Amino acid sequence: MKCDPNQFRAPPPSLAVKTRLIRQLFLPPLVVALMIGLGFIGFWISEYYGIRTLSDTGERQLELHARTVESELGKYTYLPSLLELESSVSKLLAEPNQETRKTVNDYLEGLNRRSRSRAIYVMDTTGRVLATSNWRDADSYQGEDLSFRAYFQNAVRGQPGRFYGIGSTNGEPGYYLAHGLEEHGKIIGVAVVKVRLEALEERWQRARLEAFVSDENGIIILSSDPARRLKAVRPLSDDTRDRLAHSLQYYWATLNELEPLARERLNEVSETLTFPANSEVVNDAHEVSYLAQTRPLLDTPWHFTLLTPLNDLRRAAINQGILVAVAFGLVAFLLIAWNERRKVIATRLAAREALQEANSQLERRIAERTSDLRASNERLKGQIRERRQAEETLRRAQDELVQAGKLAAIGQMSTSIAHELNQPLAALRTLSGNTVRFLERGALDTASANLKTINELIDRMGRITASLRSFARRGDDQSQASLTKAVDAAFQVLGARVDSQPLSVHRDFATVQLQIDQTRLEQILVNLIGNALDAMQDQPSPELWLEGSSSEGKYRLRVRDNGHGVDAEARKHLFEPFFTTKPGEQGLGLGLTLSASLAAATGGNLAVEHPASGGTAFVLSLPLAGIQPTEST
Ligand code: ADP
Repeated sequence: MKCDPNQFRAPPPSLAVKTRLIRQLFLPPLVVALMIGLGFIGFWISEYYGIRTLSDTGERQLELHARTVESELGKYTYLPSLLELESSVSKLLAEPNQETRKTVNDYLEGLNRRSRSRAIYVMDTTGRVLATSNWRDADSYQGEDLSFRAYFQNAVRGQPGRFYGIGSTNGEPGYYLAHGLEEHGKIIGVAVVKVRLEALEERWQRARLEAFVSDENGIIILSSDPARRLKAVRPLSDDTRDRLAHSLQYYWATLNELEPLARERLNEVSETLTFPANSEVVNDAHEVSYLAQTRPLLDTPWHFTLLTPLNDLRRAAINQGILVAVAFGLVAFLLIAWNERRKVIATRLAAREALQEANSQLERRIAERTSDLRASNERLKGQIRERRQAEETLRRAQDELVQAGKLAAIGQMSTSIAHELNQPLAALRTLSGNTVRFLERGALDTASANLKTINELIDRMGRITASLRSFARRGDDQSQASLTKAVDAAFQVLGARVDSQPLSVHRDFATVQLQIDQTRLEQILVNLIGNALDAMQDQPSPELWLEGSSSEGKYRLRVRDNGHGVDAEARKHLFEPFFTTKPGEQGLGLGLTLSASLAAATGGNLAVEHPASGGTAFVLSLPLAGIQPTEST
């Protein structure tokens, strides 16, 4: 039994290998790309929400510190207007003289000390300083013409003068608050308070706060980082630059732009700014980013900007991005490992199932084949039984055939014998009657001649009965037969029929001993020669050839006649039992069957030939027992 090998064969390897190769080639870059992508998204989300949180906190901080700046500035707002109340000031403005100037100078000096301002001074309507708190100093403003100052120009027009500038005398920056001094509704002079705002900057630095204040021109006037001071937060047009240069508001400062490395506006009040790293502040980074939130300061055209460093936030966002990427990588790795393990288990299970299926199929097939074998064994046994029975039946039929053939031959012979014996008997009756009469008459010679004839007739009758006896005798398989004797005996049996025809017999065979019982050989020859005689009945010159030849231990006797032959249809049935073409009771159809069976029983055979010249030839082939010289007749 064979098992189908295809059943256990894996699917075509090319496909499986190709998909695995594609997976192995593309999966790692895909996972890496997804890690980078997700890491970036994680970074972006973390930064976005971080900035939002910072922005919320920053807004509160912005409000707080902006208010501090506003209150710091507001502290001095009222101070210039106070001078209106001082009569010595009005007097000085009305009639400037040394004494009044001295009085006012002393007054301003005391006031300045108490208010902790930088300087307080009074100008006439032309912009000349009449009295000042720093009258003792070498770089005193006394007598200076400050009419070009914008705060003066505003104040002399009755508007509040707010101004940040760098002093033209000593180059010291300060916040100038100017107020137009009125008397009877008319401006008679201008009072100015100069305030230093460094305290704010110092406070920011102490609190590690990064902030700056930009003025109406967009110039940073206060900054926690001195490097940013006097930088422009927005681009300055050439006109503005010219104007500012003429006004000497910032003295001779260059007014460079604040140039961040990157700038991204988030909304109206906030943006992100990236500056090159200030080595004092940040040691481990090349650049530093800030969330810049800006708010206008009340009562001034200035803006307060709070800078919240984003580096920590960025670092945290990067860490979170890396965390997301690593987490994804880990999950992807676990998923891939799990998937591979699942596949291995599935493959093992499939293989085990296939094996079990194959086993059960094998067992099924073995069972089927076994039952098939058992059935065919049973069939064979049945066939063997049937064959044995058939052989038995055949053997019995053969015996019966032999017996029937014998009976038929006996029947035929008895007719011939009766015919043969009746003739001499009738002749004997006539001869004996005549002999009696001849004896009564005394004709002794004639009587003697009749008695002689009677003797001959009795001899012939004896021969006939002798052949009948020999034919009826039961054969012995072990015995030998003489061919010549058998031929003679056959002619003797058929004597009457031979004599009734003008038959020519051609004998051309050896005197051989054949391995067959004598009676059986005679029986075969009686059949063959008898059939030949029947076939040649209507032949005017019947001829019979008996031709012998030996080969390979066998002797072939060819019994040929020139009779009517056998037609094509009858040729097929010649050796079948009870096949006969003879009318009435003349034929039993057993002669050839019996003869063939007798020949076969001794290891020989009987065949038929149909010569082209006409007639029929039966070839009897029998094993040789011995050979003697050829005899011809
Ligand atoms: P039976 O002689 O009783 O018919 P056989 O078995 O001896 O039975 O012969 C069968 C038939 O074979 C005969 O009826 C005859 O037709 C044919 N046959 C036998 N021998 C010859 C022959 N020599 N020539 C022509 N026909 C023959």
